[in-house]
Amino acid sequence: MNTINTQKQRISIMKFLLFIFAFTLSFLACAQNSNSSGVGYSYQLSDQQWKEKLSDEQYSVLRRKGTEIPFKNKYWDNKKSGKYVCAGCEHNLFVSDTKFKSGTGWPSFFSFIENGVELGVDNNLGYSRNEVHCKNCGGHLGHVFNDGPKPTGLRYCINSVALIFIEE
Ligand code: FE
Repeated sequence: MNTINTQKQRISIMKFLLFIFAFTLSFLACAQNSNSSGVGYSYQLSDQQWKEKLSDEQYSVLRRKGTEIPFKNKYWDNKKSGKYVCAGCEHNLFVSDTKFKSGTGWPSFFSFIENGVELGVDNNLGYSRNEVHCKNCGGHLGHVFNDGPKPTGLRYCINSVALIFIEE
């Protein structure tokens, strides 16, 4: 009888440990997704709210890090003066003075408005180091490369669909 009870206890302990292990794993999985869902940013919406607010293409780029088709997007060749704000939260991102012709088919800037964007910093969190996202809502905008023009030498290659242009 005692042996059976001891065995039952062992099984219970094993089940408990397995539960803790599974719980830890699921927590880590959620933590990896936390930034893409906007946790930690000033402007936050639930995934469902983002789906309701954004068009399918905006959602695909801003919330799922998709990439639009080059030369067939709204602003790649836009030469008007004004500013570009985030299509997700209307945060100020870029001004036309820093836009340049890159030949890539995507709107390209050599700089951004102060506090407009931030770069991905940790591959373990699903960000590549050259990933560019909105500092206010975390929405994915595009990537930055070091083959841009002076004065920064940087090329912020941004999806039009992640932007709203406001003529000034
Ligand atoms: Fe934003």
